[in-house]
Amino acid sequence: MKALQLVPRPRVDPEEFAGQQTRRFTDHRLRIGRSGVVHEVAWRSWLGDLVLPVPACHQGWSGFAAADDLTATDDPATCRKCAHGTGLRRGEVQPALFELDQD
Ligand SMILES: [Zn+2]
Repeated sequence: MKALQLVPRPRVDPEEFAGQQTRRFTDHRLRIGRSGVVHEVAWRSWLGDLVLPVPACHQGWSGFAAADDLTATDDPATCRKCAHGTGLRRGEVQPALFELDQD
């Protein structure tokens, strides 16, 4: 019996996705969702050697940049935590909290 797929799920190539995110956010800052706050960008380990952009101040949000919930901008950073340099500097990678087996 073949399962009926009611909601099509797009397939994502991790390397292609991470490459797109790198091109979008390198040398830019970011906004989360509809927020007007602009954050500096840091990079977080994702799968293997791949990284994804995150707010440098560690501001949390739901999602993982996979649903266009982060927007790249050239606007100056307005986040006070990012402005005080409490987060990671550009180009630094936030280490994973724990490693996952990828087998
Ligand atoms: Zn911030």
